[in-house]
Amino acid sequence: MSEGGLRIRARPSVVPKEGSRISALAAVPFAHGQACTKLGSSRPAPRRASFGRLTCTMATLITHAVVATALGQAVSPELRKQPLFWVATVFCSMLPDADVIGFRLGIHYGDLWGHRGMTHSLLFAVVVGCAAGALLGKTAKDRWWLAAFLFVVTASHGLLDAMTDGGLGVAFFSPFDPTRYFFPWRPIAVSPIGAGRFLSARGLHVLWTEICWVWGPALAVGMGLRVLGRRKNRALREIEERT
Ligand SMILES: [Zn+2]
Repeated sequence: MSEGGLRIRARPSVVPKEGSRISALAAVPFAHGQACTKLGSSRPAPRRASFGRLTCTMATLITHAVVATALGQAVSPELRKQPLFWVATVFCSMLPDADVIGFRLGIHYGDLWGHRGMTHSLLFAVVVGCAAGALLGKTAKDRWWLAAFLFVVTASHGLLDAMTDGGLGVAFFSPFDPTRYFFPWRPIAVSPIGAGRFLSARGLHVLWTEICWVWGPALAVGMGLRVLGRRKNRALREIEERT
């Protein structure tokens, strides 16, 4: 994180060229479907852009899954033993990008249901977490745990996208506030679409930034959570043995 910490900044933007960084942009709300302009330029942003161009503005799906898997180390060993738990975890981490289907349906990037819009919001994460928790949990305690965990996993998707250096920001507070947000610190390069392009020099650069800034920290967090979990379980066993 930069010195700005967790402060997030509203950044409406144009759809950038692949590999370009967005320069200083006006910090004003971005209305659904509204075209906006780059600061210092009168050229309006494209209201519609191609599927290929727009879908290259996400962290790669596998990176979302890596983060979710690391977070999964925080749950109980009983839950971690269930394959369905991991399926749900990975699914929830990738689900927000289902909104790219909207490009095929004529939904604009900046619309409520456009890319990085409603499906990347915190409200969407709450709904997904509660629904998945209710479906997967066998006991009331499990359902609450799963709902909270899968909320965090789903919300982590938008947080990662807000650290990429392309596209529009993330509408964290949709549908109440359409403002698109980026973190001030955005080290993750936008991902090119298609396997062929991903294996290009640009694709390898994207992968490298994700390994450095996401996979590495995620591995450390996962290992840390695992160690803390073992210590907690050991302490609980010792307490049980004494009583
Ligand atoms: Zn996304």
